[in-house]
Amino acid sequence: MRYQTQFLLSAFDAAQFPAPTVPEIAFLGRSNVGKSSLLNALVGEKAARVSSTPGRTRAINFFLVSDESNRPRRVFADLPGYGYAKISKSISAEWPKFIEPYLAERETLALCVCLVDSNIPPRPADKQLLDWLRSVDRDFVVVATKVDRLSGNERTRNLAALRKGLGVEEILAVSAKTGAGLRELWGRIEG
Ligand code: GDP
Repeated sequence: MRYQTQFLLSAFDAAQFPAPTVPEIAFLGRSNVGKSSLLNALVGEKAARVSSTPGRTRAINFFLVSDESNRPRRVFADLPGYGYAKISKSISAEWPKFIEPYLAERETLALCVCLVDSNIPPRPADKQLLDWLRSVDRDFVVVATKVDRLSGNERTRNLAALRKGLGVEEILAVSAKTGAGLRELWGRIEG
């Protein structure tokens, strides 16, 4: 299926979220995890470029993804990357205040795509985010990025460590560079 992506808006508070329509997919991860590259590989350059525009990196950036007949299919919500610092009490003290209500209350939010770097051992901040998503009953899929950098053995070992450390049964391994795993990820997004 061919998709077209249209930038909708950057929201800096809850009043600016677009009216809820089609199922929404949120993309989350620490800065530098490869979120822009993955969005770029999934829906084209526009999304990645808008989200990295100065002034928009602290916003939730919304995109409408339509099929070839121009029918709206999904909204992608690109959330600000969280920092290297430990996530604190709420989800993150560094995150703008409207992120938490978005994740907890947005009625059309169908799936959170939680990105972790397959080259880096499990991080407390990622674990805390997943625990928090569980606490508010949000569906999520954990996606390990940059798998092209790993040998077969490293890949097996790192993914096992991530599953264990993050307390999840399944991790989808992807590479924006080679396209590995993108079909499976689309399957989850459409599912
Ligand atoms: P963001 O901060 O999460 O948006 O991360 P970026 O998409 O900007 O990527 C951070 C760094 O990781 C950049 O140097 C990218 O080139 C690199 N990167 C991202 N995805 C991949 C990938 O699939 N494979 C490899 N080898 N590098 C990647």
